[in-house]
Amino acid sequence: MGIFKDLESNVRGYCRSFPVTFTKAQNATLTDSEGNQYIDFLGGAGTLNYGHNNPAFKDALIDYIQSDGMTHGLDMHTEAKAAFLETFRDLILAPRNMDYKVQFTGPTGTNAVEAALKIARKNTGRQTIVSFTNGFHGVTQGSAAVTANGYYKKASGLPTTGVHFMPFDGYLGDFNTLTYFEKALKDKSSGLGHPAAVIVECIQGEGGLNVASKEWMQGLQELCKRYDMLLIVDDIQAGCGRSGTFFSFEEFGIEPDVITLSKSLSGYGLPMAIVLLKEELDIWQPGEHNGTFRGNNHAFVTSRKALETYWSDYRFAEEVQHKASVIRRRLKEIQAENGGQMKHKGRGIMQGLEFANGEIAGAITERAFDKGLVIETSGSDGQVVKILAPLTIEESTLNAGLDILEKVIGEVMAEQVSKAS
Ligand SMILES: *Cc1c(COP(=O)(O)O)cnc(C)c1O
Repeated sequence: MGIFKDLESNVRGYCRSFPVTFTKAQNATLTDSEGNQYIDFLGGAGTLNYGHNNPAFKDALIDYIQSDGMTHGLDMHTEAKAAFLETFRDLILAPRNMDYKVQFTGPTGTNAVEAALKIARKNTGRQTIVSFTNGFHGVTQGSAAVTANGYYKKASGLPTTGVHFMPFDGYLGDFNTLTYFEKALKDKSSGLGHPAAVIVECIQGEGGLNVASKEWMQGLQELCKRYDMLLIVDDIQAGCGRSGTFFSFEEFGIEPDVITLSKSLSGYGLPMAIVLLKEELDIWQPGEHNGTFRGNNHAFVTSRKALETYWSDYRFAEEVQHKASVIRRRLKEIQAENGGQMKHKGRGIMQGLEFANGEIAGAITERAFDKGLVIETSGSDGQVVKILAPLTIEESTLNAGLDILEKVIGEVMAEQVSKAS
């Protein structure tokens, strides 16, 4: 399609990996303008946990539009917003004994992160945020500062300040990286000073599916308490069920001070983001952090429907955990078939395989697309092939996608061997 190349900025990204024009999508199946079908293991980069055009949400949205329900509401009271808040409280917060205020931010993940950083700085009067190696938190000025990847940092065009990076769990092999973090907190000459907060992903989505262990996350919370720093968990990608529970930290028994949610929160791929903050941190003055699009009522309608449909009981979480175990088993098989030349990464339906370099991983995803599978890479060198399928994917479709992956990995690895000899 010439129009994209002629008119659209060079900044376009995903379309370069999947150079067709998509027309339709249903659950985990995409259709292009030639009528070709693809299995979707990208899931809108974690935005479509409940699949494309989920029929239950679509019906709710059509009904709402037909009845002239408010579409745009700034941050005014609307029935759709009240219904979302009540449902979020009753189905998500209350059953988990979570006591938080909800802040609606501009509808992107990065805006929720900007708000979270402001909350930390405003409450503590301090500036430094500790972030981690390979962390990704968005690309506006503040969130790009706490993002580790040099490609995005450089593009921000200004020195990114107010951040100090620490090694994530596993960054130094078996060494517990919190030992270093604590030493730096204690040592007045470490250069760290007294940070306002720590921002962390329990599963690093863009950073290569690095997983923080339960012990490490508990240790991190403990360190935050002991050294008077706020704990911000960025659950924008790993949240909304992706890890196998609604929040990615549920099994850790921790209680972050601030949590960011976006991507799959609306359920339908509509833009929506929130920050959950402890009541005592809610010292905002009215409108101090604002944004025109904080009231996307269509997103409130579909989000509420998503919560009602999938989070009223444990069945959906169990289904996700089952599919995650299928993925784990098959990835381990692929690993064994190829002489263990790759590393298994991630958890939940956020798993993948790490290859020696981005070239190999890129060759795999490119060839997978030729065979009808949409899948992307992540990690500092794009070296991790990453499965981010909708959680609602039919098991047969999931296995069909994994079959393609298995075949393609076998081919590419065999070529590597023959190239080397
Ligand atoms: C995607 C993502 C963001 C940024 O969200 P945008 O909507 O792209 O601004 C922030 N944090 C994490 C963990 C993400 O995966």
